[in-house]
Amino acid sequence: MEVKYDYDALAQDGRLTLPELPGLWKYLPLLPLQQEENIVSLGEGGTPLLRCQRMADIYGAQIEWYIKAEHLNPSGSFKDRPSSVGVSAAKEAGAEKVVIASSGNAAAATAAYSARAGMECVVFVPESTDPGKVIQAASYGATVIPVTGNYSHSYDMADLCAKRFGWPNITSTFLNPYTVEADKTVAYEIFEQLGGRFPDVVIIPIASGPLMIGAYKGFDELRHLGRVPAQQPLPAMVGVQSEQCMPITRAYLNGDAQVHCWDGTISTIAGGISDPLVGYENDGTLTLQTARASGGMMLCLTEGEIWQATQMVETKVGYYCEPTSATAIGAVSKLWNEGFLKKGATVVSVLTGHGFKYTGRRCNILQPISKVEQLEILLKKTQ
Ligand SMILES: *Cc1c(COP(=O)(O)O)cnc(C)c1O
Repeated sequence: MEVKYDYDALAQDGRLTLPELPGLWKYLPLLPLQQEENIVSLGEGGTPLLRCQRMADIYGAQIEWYIKAEHLNPSGSFKDRPSSVGVSAAKEAGAEKVVIASSGNAAAATAAYSARAGMECVVFVPESTDPGKVIQAASYGATVIPVTGNYSHSYDMADLCAKRFGWPNITSTFLNPYTVEADKTVAYEIFEQLGGRFPDVVIIPIASGPLMIGAYKGFDELRHLGRVPAQQPLPAMVGVQSEQCMPITRAYLNGDAQVHCWDGTISTIAGGISDPLVGYENDGTLTLQTARASGGMMLCLTEGEIWQATQMVETKVGYYCEPTSATAIGAVSKLWNEGFLKKGATVVSVLTGHGFKYTGRRCNILQPISKVEQLEILLKKTQ
């Protein structure tokens, strides 16, 4: 399902933003909620767009490069956008309980917004979900239920519960049209933060792709509403997957019209985008079509490349991020070397999730010392 608006009426009305409302809710006229009093907000949206020239120089990429810092949302990922709108819509519909399947971040986000709304929340997560995210979701008071197998099994459980018990399903795929609508606000913000213009390329980590499709719709709406000239091309949308789970990228590379589910075993540090799409392959096809139609593409990174990109953004920018989101950073190196990115292009990488909840890290912690003399020896050793 896709939400349609009467754009002519909206354009005539003039008040497309309501600056007095919090975060992404300032775009309420373009969001599918009837009553302002049903807004469930924790201050999501309005995240920084940070120029990262040093990293571009290190990659040798002669581009104007920005990070959209979505990990700085209240629960630590962009999923706060779909969860805020999804839970608000559920509240407006009179629900007292919601259900969600998640690879972790959406679970934490929906649990947080349910707590805020005073609603119950049932969460299904794959058994392999990072404990950092499981603990976070449970801490907000949600009932968190691990499910054996990969993400698609959790997806099925949430779907069954929604059908059997009538609970609104907030799963951030294409099941719930309200959640995809929320994702488009990323595009509105990028447009405003660039001073009222589109970037040339937007790079997004992809599970099934609602963030990419939502953002693309956001840019398209800005054109519909006359914010840019009608002939202005939309940004090229580039999606990134892990080599360990890349059903959409595989279809792109093969030139296939349709995406097939991923049946290999999955072992990746990019847990937020390891969705094999079993039973909802069409979601992947929709994303593939959007990447192609926009003049963008799909690519994948190896585990080593993902880890390197994580360290790059942490040591050269100062943003602490989960490896999943660093795929949008590592992709730039590939895209520049392959000639996809043109000299002088404006590029936005969406950093989707925070490093605080990623527990898979290993790093060298130094031995404790008691005297300053030891420090000199220690510093010589670490040089
Ligand atoms: C969910 C998630 C994604 C994938 O987003 P989709 O819109 O489901 O494709 C990317 N990065 C992080 C950190 C996520 O949690």
